[in-house]
Amino acid sequence: MSLIQGTSGEWEVVIGLEVHAQAITRSKLFSGAATAYGAEPNAQVSLVDAAMPGMLPVLNRAAVEQAVKTGLGLEAEIKLHSVFERKNYFYPDLPQGYQISQYQEPIVGEGRVVIDLEAGDSREIGIERLHMEQDAGKSLHDRHPSKSHVDLNRAGVPLMEIVTKPDLRSAEETGLFLRKLRSILRYLETCDGNMEEGSMRCDVNVSVRKPGDDLGTRCEIKNVNSIRFVQQAIDYEAKRQVRVKEAGGEIEQETRLFDPDRGETRPMRSKEEAHDYRYFPDPDLLPLDLDPAWVEELRAALPELPDARKARFVGDYGLSAYDAGVLVAEKETAEFFESVVEGGRDPKVAANWLTGEVFSALNRSGLDLAEAPVDAEGLGGLLDLIGDGTISGRMAKEVFDAMWQSGKSAAAIVEERGLKQISDSGEIEAIIAAIVADNPGQVEQYKGGNEKVIGWFVGQVMKATQGKANPKLVNELLRKAL
Ligand code: ADP
Ligand code: MG
Repeated sequence: MSLIQGTSGEWEVVIGLEVHAQAITRSKLFSGAATAYGAEPNAQVSLVDAAMPGMLPVLNRAAVEQAVKTGLGLEAEIKLHSVFERKNYFYPDLPQGYQISQYQEPIVGEGRVVIDLEAGDSREIGIERLHMEQDAGKSLHDRHPSKSHVDLNRAGVPLMEIVTKPDLRSAEETGLFLRKLRSILRYLETCDGNMEEGSMRCDVNVSVRKPGDDLGTRCEIKNVNSIRFVQQAIDYEAKRQVRVKEAGGEIEQETRLFDPDRGETRPMRSKEEAHDYRYFPDPDLLPLDLDPAWVEELRAALPELPDARKARFVGDYGLSAYDAGVLVAEKETAEFFESVVEGGRDPKVAANWLTGEVFSALNRSGLDLAEAPVDAEGLGGLLDLIGDGTISGRMAKEVFDAMWQSGKSAAAIVEERGLKQISDSGEIEAIIAAIVADNPGQVEQYKGGNEKVIGWFVGQVMKATQGKANPKLVNELLRKAL
């Protein structure tokens, strides 16, 4: 927990999120139109999505499956009976005049997400519920000097709205929560978590209170679309509320917008202007009753999730909790790591190379792991050459850089550049003998008890072999010779 220092003492920040996650499905929640991102405007609109008179919604089973899987992944209660309702409001991008959503009876009830804090501690964040709803279309204001256009491709796309309890206590914790949630959704393959494309976005509820007091009045910051912006919005909003309260004012419950250019939140509408949505059960849709056996089938088929995988990496591979956490955060990284260690390679060495050299090369080149010129097999090949003494750890970095540039295998590069480490004792002994003969002064010093001279000798051998001598062997043979 991080407290805000005000003039009247410390304040606690309280945050609850409503995360809109787009369910991965080929077609929309109530129609057969496609959901793929990036199509030409209005290329993916059925008569149902355009709300032509007399059109009837038909529930997409795949979307329900995704919502149930997500609920299971959040360790939540799956409600076998749920109800779709109409949330009524007017907006140009909403041709129906209402959004089909769930309200009183959502498909998923209470659950939890565990976040890992800095010092090896963890904290449980409560999930209030998950409900299904359809997305609205999009108004385009930049296509014409005086007119706005409407793109309905997104209208009807299935969303899962995940609502947390007001359990988060800082911008930092909220960032950890969102990363963890995104990771779980990606492991489950129920949402791609791509915030730039809008497939995950959130409303951020913020209030402040004196530690120990009841919850304060909250403001809701709408539709924030990056983790960094969420954190900036929380920090700004919490400080603003402390300022208002310390000046003797009251926080009005209102909806606000975050302006990323100015890093501030601004009022959008107050409670008085809040909509009355007149929810009522959609008469075109029956209540949704799930077969308990089907839910159990989905539960049994759930993939291993990040927490379980992390525990396994610590237990089976002897990795530190920190390293295991870094490796499991993204499913691709965890899978890459497992393919590298599969052939019996040292897990700690593999983890170091992956989180060290590979991650920094990815950063430098702005690539994702899936696009990396060195794949799991390539890295494995490199580690094998270090393991069997063909190359030293220092040479391996050079080989790795060359692999990254050329996409060639480690073995090919070692061959090409003649980088093979010299591990032939006879060859090294001969070099040592010559150096010893040429430098009687240093030999005297060593014999006189100056242990440090050994380092100088190692340097000479390396120089003579252009760094290719096996350092461990050099040390051994030098001591023998001296
Ligand atoms: P609404 O639709 O009115 O925004 P929801 O129940 O959908 O209501 O969402 C309420 C959200 O606000 C939840 O994420 C909840 O955790 C959060 N919340 C409720 N009270 C507070 C509070 N006092 N401070 C911060 N967040 C709060
Ligand atoms: Mg809300």
